[in-house]
Amino acid sequence: MTQTEYKIYIDDVIRRVESARLNVSAHHIVKIVAVSKYSTSEDIAKLYEIGQRAFGENKVQDLKAKAIALDELPLEWHYIGNLQKNKINNLLDINPTLFQALDSLSLAEELQKKLVAKDMQLDCLMQVNSAKEASKHGFYPDDAVEAYKKIQQECPNINLKGLMSIGAHSDNKEIIKKSFDTTYEIYKKLPNATICSMGMSGDFELAIECGSNMIRLGSLIFNK
Ligand SMILES: *Cc1c(COP(=O)(O)O)cnc(C)c1O
Repeated sequence: MTQTEYKIYIDDVIRRVESARLNVSAHHIVKIVAVSKYSTSEDIAKLYEIGQRAFGENKVQDLKAKAIALDELPLEWHYIGNLQKNKINNLLDINPTLFQALDSLSLAEELQKKLVAKDMQLDCLMQVNSAKEASKHGFYPDDAVEAYKKIQQECPNINLKGLMSIGAHSDNKEIIKKSFDTTYEIYKKLPNATICSMGMSGDFELAIECGSNMIRLGSLIFNK
């Protein structure tokens, strides 16, 4: 797509986000992370020209390649995919703005060790598998609050900022809503959490209605 076409797309997305967030409250601010996983560095540069700053990737090697290619632009990189332990160092080399998919205690322990070794801190979100789907990663709702506090206590180099969740895989709006409500209820119980990342191209308006303040949009922005 051309830059002009991207502008038309993103203007429409922003209008929809504005309307959804104003339904919650004039004070409810929602951040858009453009998920560029099916797109090229050239596409990302066009979106940057229009004003988009935060981008998300779900493969460490893709994030690395794009971050290097676009090194001169002041972009925010979000890592939203499952992180294998043997890729932790590669991710840390890029020093992403936010790792959104901390999904197990053993990953937290390993990440903590690597952060200490590199004398780094990393902002993270804990992933919740709110609909308890076998196909998804993340903590089950019943374990989430305790695990969050445990990571805060035992992993001082991990700065937990809140939660990330993917809405239930369903055509039924009530079932999707329930999964967002579950995540938001956990979010409200967490000490010092400020980010509730939920909502994708197909369900972001519902997610905002349920309290999300960070949405991750791929296909809607990149027309893929
Ligand atoms: C791909 C992906 C998205 C974006 O999905 P779309 O439906 O294309 O908007 C959001 N979050 C995660 C974790 C993803 O993997």
